[in-house]
Amino acid sequence: MTRATRPTCPTRTTPARPVDVEQLFPELAPYRREALRLHPRPGAPTARDSSVGGPLLWPAEESWPVCTEEHYEPESPELHEAGVALLPIVQVRRAEAPGVPFPEGTDLLQVLWCPYGHGEYCYPLPRVYWRDSAAVGKVRPTPDPDPGLDADWYPDPCTVHPETVTEYASRDLPWDLQDALRGRIDELEAETGLLYPYHLADAPGIKLGGWPGWTQEPVWPDCEGCGSRMEHLLTVASREFDGESWRTWLPVEDRNPDGGDPDWHLAASAGLCLGDVGGVYVFECRTCPDRPVGHWFDCS
Ligand SMILES: [Zn+2]
Ligand SMILES: [Zn+2]
Repeated sequence: MTRATRPTCPTRTTPARPVDVEQLFPELAPYRREALRLHPRPGAPTARDSSVGGPLLWPAEESWPVCTEEHYEPESPELHEAGVALLPIVQVRRAEAPGVPFPEGTDLLQVLWCPYGHGEYCYPLPRVYWRDSAAVGKVRPTPDPDPGLDADWYPDPCTVHPETVTEYASRDLPWDLQDALRGRIDELEAETGLLYPYHLADAPGIKLGGWPGWTQEPVWPDCEGCGSRMEHLLTVASREFDGESWRTWLPVEDRNPDGGDPDWHLAASAGLCLGDVGGVYVFECRTCPDRPVGHWFDCS
């Protein structure tokens, strides 16, 4: 008699690139990076799970982090009172995040942000925590978002399906290399309809590592401690894919059997709309011992 096995979490599989990018453009080899796509899908993750917008494994003896910066109602000139509880954005277990450089002694990454508007561009303000999950005993409940808060600025609870993919730089390519490649990229487009930045370069959606999913020109923060350029830790994009990128980046499990347009609800799985369908980019310095964090926000 066979015993029923516990159903495993369905995976998400990005199809192979339809062409061999490095064979066509050998100059891109130094701009190859691995990214971990999280593939958030609406669900009910627990505090022990990797998640987007899910409850965090937060120690009961540690107070919940609050924002004490001056901040505004989203997309409004109204100042909002300080002392707002930060909201969970991403929690990822090390076991599900191959290639992500966890600091020694930690196995849990937690990113939260204050969803009100900060600074000139009214961006949400992220904060990063690395933890040893074994050291967390009693768990503090994750607070609910302010009832009046615009839900576009924080993710709905989602389970995740982490998957490592290979990316190539797009907006981050040096100008002279972009110029050198332009003719061959145009030729490929004419022959195949493939657009390098949308179909071949970097993965859309929420991801760890790889290249930031910029909407505008790159802005890499420098570390205030050592002055060096920070590394990309996390892109939180409003959309998992758009009208072009789905053609090569939509996981096979999510495709229509007839090859037609995808279920567009999947594109907004986490229920985010950051400004005009923008993204928040979180960076860190891996040289300075306390791993300082930087961030940027852009949108259309
Ligand atoms: Zn704030
Ligand atoms: Zn530094």
